[in-house]
Amino acid sequence: MTTDSKLDKLALEKLAFETLCAHTGAIPDAATGAVTAPIHFSSTFRYVPTGELPGGFNYARESNPTRSQLELHLAALEGGAVAAAFSSGSAAAHAVFASLKPGDHVITNSDVYIGVRHLLADIMEPWGLQVTFTDLSNLENLTAALRPNTALMWTETPTNPQIRIVDVPGVAAICKARGIRLAVDNTFATPVLQLPLALGADIVMHSTTKYLGGHSDLIGGALIAKQEDAWWQRIKHIQHIVGGVPSPFDCWLVMRGIRSLVPRVQRHNANARIVAEYLATHPKVAQVLYPGLPTHPGHAIAKTQMTDFGAIVSFLVKGDMGETVEVVKRARVFTSATSLGGTESLIEYRRGAEGPGSQTPENLIRLSVGLEHPDDLIADLKQALG
Ligand SMILES: *Cc1c(COP(=O)(O)O)cnc(C)c1O
Repeated sequence: MTTDSKLDKLALEKLAFETLCAHTGAIPDAATGAVTAPIHFSSTFRYVPTGELPGGFNYARESNPTRSQLELHLAALEGGAVAAAFSSGSAAAHAVFASLKPGDHVITNSDVYIGVRHLLADIMEPWGLQVTFTDLSNLENLTAALRPNTALMWTETPTNPQIRIVDVPGVAAICKARGIRLAVDNTFATPVLQLPLALGADIVMHSTTKYLGGHSDLIGGALIAKQEDAWWQRIKHIQHIVGGVPSPFDCWLVMRGIRSLVPRVQRHNANARIVAEYLATHPKVAQVLYPGLPTHPGHAIAKTQMTDFGAIVSFLVKGDMGETVEVVKRARVFTSATSLGGTESLIEYRRGAEGPGSQTPENLIRLSVGLEHPDDLIADLKQALG
């Protein structure tokens, strides 16, 4: 498998993105010729008492053939040297933060995903990290937040849930000049729309729970790094020792999701544009937060670093919390649930979901636009808005 996967990696690097996706987990199995990858459930692998590993694997908390195949494809999709699949996006984020040392300073978005906010504020700050939350859609805020001990910039773009756009090459230039590492959470954009490593990031994170899995049936995460350096070895060591590893079945499900990633993302995006344009004309909507609209403050930057604008649409209702919650309650085709990136459209009262400490406006609704016929989505929003 080790030799095989090196050969596979060389072959993968030459393929177009669509081809890579369509062939994920479909490298014919050397032993049987099976076109769809087998799932290796074994937790342990035979080894010679002197230490040699005939198959290249030892114990599945360290690595597993199904996971290795997913990681090979993730690295190729994001244009990285290496990847690691995790049990959740949050476990992936934790491994990056835990690779720093107590006393290091981290800068991140003021509206960073609420779980990452809790991870930093409730766990990593008491552990010894210093953290600044700021609006990174304005690079002056980043410059103002810099400290001599700033070690990591962690940014989403588009952000969750306020759909702000962060200028990745702009941030990368500031980081590079000061030896600060740049991590980009690419969950909302997916590698179909945005390749942060090519834009200057050092590491990319995914919640594969979302578009890569794509069917709301698994929890998973991933990290993809530009280089296999000492920092990467440290992150891998943390994963191996802490144990935030995905099951072989979940790895297989992510690979199955990636096979249809390109056409799914295209359809998600086409539907999201229709929904955003409809909402922008609705008298009960105060503002639509969608970078595909020319009125969005991040539209011009999004156009330079993304090939389309994603399928998460947030909007502000003309009204208070009570009226906003009523809109969510009336939705029928859109299911009121958290998460995003599945085939079915979801609607969420995000401030309620985030709970105490939420920075989200009380009249914000977040939509994950799915693959339905757009007429059904528009009709549902029309009746829900009343
Ligand atoms: C869901 C999400 C996460 C967390 O991922 P989990 O798989 O739920 O742990 C992180 N970042 C973003 C942008 C997300 O949407």
